[in-house]
Amino acid sequence: MKHLPKSEVWLVTGAQELYGPGPLKHVADHSKAIAKGLNAAPGLPYPLVFKSVLTTPEAIRAVCLEANQAPRCAGLVLWMHTFSPSRMWIGGLSVLRKPFAHLHTQFNRDLPWPEIDMDFMNLNQAAHGDREAGFLHARMRLPRKIIVGHWQDPEVVERLAAWMRVARGWQDLQGARFARFGDNMRRVGVTEGDKVAAETRFGYSVDGFGVGDLVAEVKGVAESKVTALCAEYTDRYAVAPGLGRGGPRHDSLREAARIELGLRAFLTKGAFKGFTTTFEDLHGLRQLPGLAVQRLMADGYGFGAEGDWKTCALVRMMKVIAEGLPGGTSFMEDYTYHLHPSGSLVLGAHMLEICESIAAAKPSLEVHPLGIGGREDPARLVFTARAGPALNASIIDLGTRFRLIVNEVDVVEPPKPLPKLPVARAVWTCRPDFKTACGAWIRAGGAHHTAFSYAVTAEHLRDFAEIAGIELVLIDRDTRLAELEKELRWNEAYYHLAPGARS
Ligand code: MN
Repeated sequence: MKHLPKSEVWLVTGAQELYGPGPLKHVADHSKAIAKGLNAAPGLPYPLVFKSVLTTPEAIRAVCLEANQAPRCAGLVLWMHTFSPSRMWIGGLSVLRKPFAHLHTQFNRDLPWPEIDMDFMNLNQAAHGDREAGFLHARMRLPRKIIVGHWQDPEVVERLAAWMRVARGWQDLQGARFARFGDNMRRVGVTEGDKVAAETRFGYSVDGFGVGDLVAEVKGVAESKVTALCAEYTDRYAVAPGLGRGGPRHDSLREAARIELGLRAFLTKGAFKGFTTTFEDLHGLRQLPGLAVQRLMADGYGFGAEGDWKTCALVRMMKVIAEGLPGGTSFMEDYTYHLHPSGSLVLGAHMLEICESIAAAKPSLEVHPLGIGGREDPARLVFTARAGPALNASIIDLGTRFRLIVNEVDVVEPPKPLPKLPVARAVWTCRPDFKTACGAWIRAGGAHHTAFSYAVTAEHLRDFAEIAGIELVLIDRDTRLAELEKELRWNEAYYHLAPGARS
């Protein structure tokens, strides 16, 4: 993946000097064993590094400041093996700018019943050491993930691995740059938003460019590179008749390749992690970028259509979270419905721009007319998304804050073939059911554009919302509309008041 950060998280163990050097040596040895064990367990996406045992306010503050400055450090994992008086942590946690997870574990899984003495009790006291830490985290209103259980429990490893993925996604967003070609689709509301608020809250910046800047790159592409890329297309996809060399539509394919190469050059020069386009501003481009967008998304770039920079950044972050996991992630749009009495289905698609990472089979490369945009017939990959559990996520700007809305869905085989639909598509059922899910989504103000993923889970997005300090509205198998409507009303008050509750 392009620009994937090099990451590590630091295991930091709290203790105090009351016990003398002997027990502290055990604390350090146990911490190293835990880090080693967790790294060896299947699932962690990158290293967990044991940092140190901390026993003084000065040392705690120094590690927190060091973490802020360390580009690789995606976050901290805190554990109080013994008792660590929590006021020692105020200075450090006040300045910590990286996310942290609180691992509530114990080195020994089982109590050695016949041998247990007060030395054992004093060494293995996370049961109350972590409560002292939890009080301070609650008192300071700090965002964090709490992971509970023995460190060799596969479920604990899974929770930690999920959080680490999100910590890397967050790390990736800090300082990330997204390019917008043109502005928003005219008169559209949900794709608008406050870019200053987004940069302050999420750490990424969004900058606009005239489409002419992109056109200049496209025009500068060497013909030999276009030829080579067309050959790559032929190897990789089922190319429709007439598109091959000498075919009547080969020129359309060459133009699509030229656009892809121009876009890549532009994004590489600016070190962008994603981009938006809009069909209302294509001056000088012969086609709406379709194939190019699909392929760039497959390489890890974020994308939003019609100027939708919020979804673009979300797609990028979700691709980083999902890195290395099975199942793809794509820009998506709720397009049309099958409202059958036996069960309603959503057909998700876009004009062109769906990522091939979600395809069930080899995509077909085709050129068809496109009524919208008034340009030449664009090339696109046509495929159906594979069946399986997935989710849709949307970030909206409520004016004073952001809300993340997530719906868990189940992608199904389309009930019938779609021989005349010339775009990539996914067909799904919503959890808990169509009426509840759509009622909840629309009540919450969720967009028609989403980031769709098989690999990113509700847990990932919950961890992200916690780190970012934004509201999460989860629509899943347990959602009841009346309860969700109350949650939205209460959250309105909570998110208005919560900043004032911190001190
Ligand atoms: Mn759209």
